[in-house]
Amino acid sequence: MTVRYYDWIAHHAMRTPERLAVVNLADGREFSYARMHDRVGRLAAHLSVNLGVNAGDRVAVLAQNAPETLEVQFACGRLGAIFVPLNTRLTVAELTYIVGDAAPRVMVHDAELAATALEVAAACQTPASLQFDAPYEAALAAVQPLPRAAWADVSHDDVSTIMYTSGTTGRPKGAMITHGMTFFNCVNLGAVAGVSQSTVQLLVLPLFHTGGLNCYVNPTLHAGGLVLVMRAFDPGATLRLIHDKAFGLNLLFGVPSIYQFLCQHPDFDKTDFSGLRVGGVGGAPMPVPLLRIWEQRGVALQQGYGMTETSPAVLALDQADAAARAGSAGKPVLHTEVCVMREDGTLAAPGEIGELWVRGPNVTPGYWNRPDANASSFTDGWLHTGDATRVDADGFFYIVDRWKDMYISGGENVYPAEVEDVLYQMPQIAEAAIIGVPDERWGESGLAVVVVKPGQQLSEDQVHEHCRARLARFKCPRDIAFVEALPRNATGKVHKPTLRGQFVTEPEGV
Ligand code: ATP
Ligand code: MG
Repeated sequence: MTVRYYDWIAHHAMRTPERLAVVNLADGREFSYARMHDRVGRLAAHLSVNLGVNAGDRVAVLAQNAPETLEVQFACGRLGAIFVPLNTRLTVAELTYIVGDAAPRVMVHDAELAATALEVAAACQTPASLQFDAPYEAALAAVQPLPRAAWADVSHDDVSTIMYTSGTTGRPKGAMITHGMTFFNCVNLGAVAGVSQSTVQLLVLPLFHTGGLNCYVNPTLHAGGLVLVMRAFDPGATLRLIHDKAFGLNLLFGVPSIYQFLCQHPDFDKTDFSGLRVGGVGGAPMPVPLLRIWEQRGVALQQGYGMTETSPAVLALDQADAAARAGSAGKPVLHTEVCVMREDGTLAAPGEIGELWVRGPNVTPGYWNRPDANASSFTDGWLHTGDATRVDADGFFYIVDRWKDMYISGGENVYPAEVEDVLYQMPQIAEAAIIGVPDERWGESGLAVVVVKPGQQLSEDQVHEHCRARLARFKCPRDIAFVEALPRNATGKVHKPTLRGQFVTEPEGV
């Protein structure tokens, strides 16, 4: 049986028209489900009638977080078109690569990014463009909502979105996301975090990243809840909104660096976190010392693991286990299958490190225009995640690190995340990253790249001493480099190819 796609905005506009769907914090605009339904309908009409968007066409968006980006997503759903959110922090050359790959019919953008968007659109010969605010509002006012009879016939197997991966390990790849994948993620994350009509989420991550769009914006809207849209992450404003319980805010999701920035803010100790029912974290290794800092403030952060290709949730920790299992990414979410594989393709034993594979209705059918990656990333429907993982005797999963970041020193595998965790125990350290560098004697050895907190002193000897007391000799970094800041990609992840380019004589191609 083919499962049809249902438009959640239309649904909640029928059941709870007056309830708020989205509040735009930048300018205070409030969007009820009825208002959003009307606007999505008008946008769908404008895109199809005036800009020629048909089923299967791509519509790209280059904008800071705004409610309109969500309207584009839902308007595409009504047309059977494909939503392509673009990373706002990329250069024109990087965007030209992605837009050239996706070949959209329309480039939608905000005023701030107009120059970049139009340059990229011109380079890629994108036929049409649409700018938020005045031109967008005028376009919506000039049309009537596309009638339901004119909506495309869309199924769960149809591609709704092409979302480009973060580009942490190489060039971003366009993961094809189907309506069914997004639906199953809503169900899976909804079960983990008790998402409902009462959910009020503060969005701090960018909407062009799966962690922003799908943790938990789409699940919250699917359930008829409320999303507070922050234009771009601001730690002071985030703490104030949590403290004030703005609009009844009760859910926050961030990558580890978000929680790191929040706890370094001067208002952290004064913030009342009692309204925060769920604090979710995922997207990169989460240092246990950072989890403990939050635990001391009464917030048991629920770690999860996912990737763009799995829309994204694969593993998640229940709230009840968060403190006792700190460091674990939890257990598989409701509708997904996982296994841990050895390099020879056999199943790893409990406790043994292997590669995590994922299969199920939340997994991408493949990458857009990437037959090479499609051939190398799947075996019998199982997606190879590239992440080294182990499972303990109670079935809790631990993401050890990316296979590609693992290095071999004197014949022993070293997973940088484990060493980084130990470095983060030093109170003087603000940020730390380990990379493997060539070593004449051991093949490779660890280089610790460290950012010291302002006003603190730290010597190389202190770092060596700290590591030697806590780690086997082969895991201890041989060299230490002190820097001002770590290179991070737009999602806040440490960009190790850049670090390797800086510290290893032969830079990696990105
Ligand atoms: P690219 O695929 O382009 O190199 P990326 O893998 O960073 O970029 P995303 O899809 O945003 O792109 O991130 C998914 C990856 O993030 C996972 O494969 C994993 O390496 C990492 N990750 C996600 N959650 C966790 C977690 N809880 N702990 C450790 N790593 C995580
Ligand atoms: Mg990846």
